[in-house]
Amino acid sequence: MAKEPSARAPLVEVFWSIQGEGRFVGETMGFLRVATCPLRCSYCDTPNSYTAEPTFLVHAAGGSSREPNPVGAARAADLARSSRPATHRATPRLSITGGEPLVFPSFVSAIGATLRAEGWRIHLETAAIDSAAFLACADQVDHLSADWKLPETIDGADHGDSHFACCETALAHGATVDVKIVLTPAFADASLVRALERLAPLRERILLILQPVTPALREQEPLPASRLIAAIALAEQRGFITRTLPQAHKMLRVP
Ligand code: SF4
Repeated sequence: MAKEPSARAPLVEVFWSIQGEGRFVGETMGFLRVATCPLRCSYCDTPNSYTAEPTFLVHAAGGSSREPNPVGAARAADLARSSRPATHRATPRLSITGGEPLVFPSFVSAIGATLRAEGWRIHLETAAIDSAAFLACADQVDHLSADWKLPETIDGADHGDSHFACCETALAHGATVDVKIVLTPAFADASLVRALERLAPLRERILLILQPVTPALREQEPLPASRLIAAIALAEQRGFITRTLPQAHKMLRVP
């Protein structure tokens, strides 16, 4: 994966909303959506993040505005601060998502260094397919949300070794780790079992999130409940601490 020459990145948008996935579901936090992604997952709901536009959106209480791409880390941190709702009083959390933010590890690291010094917590939502890039910013990440991509969702590719290495690195740096597996109707039990067996050495230190696909775009069919229940059993039989969660923000109709 190509690395950025400096701590800058193209963005799609900056906004505050309700976290809809993983252990922080329901918590208000800031989101910084990076533009650019080398993957094309079947369940992707952000195809607008694949390529960078000349400008990106900043949503704030006073209305939306546009800023030029790419943006420096210091300016992105300013925008995260200034778009924060005045009523928000909890520990500020910024989720750097995408697209694929690990295309820009120096940018992630620089924002983390700036905002964590002010008491913020940095979440990284990533496909976790570049362990070297993650190592470059891991010391500025408080929470890793790593997608474990089943091959049925990415044209048969297998990134298990990179997924595992990113999780190990995050744990070694003291971060909390959610591993999210999106289950589509096409997933094979054998693929899920293979993923669980590879994750087994970390199972007591991570939270496994099983996420039934939200029908949209390329994935129009929901996961049958019987297959979801079978998947939960496969994980629990292997000793994983498991949460089964849909994308709550879609149900709440927030970004
Ligand atoms: S890694 Fe994320 S942004 Fe990229 S295609 Fe997959 S779901 Fe979409």
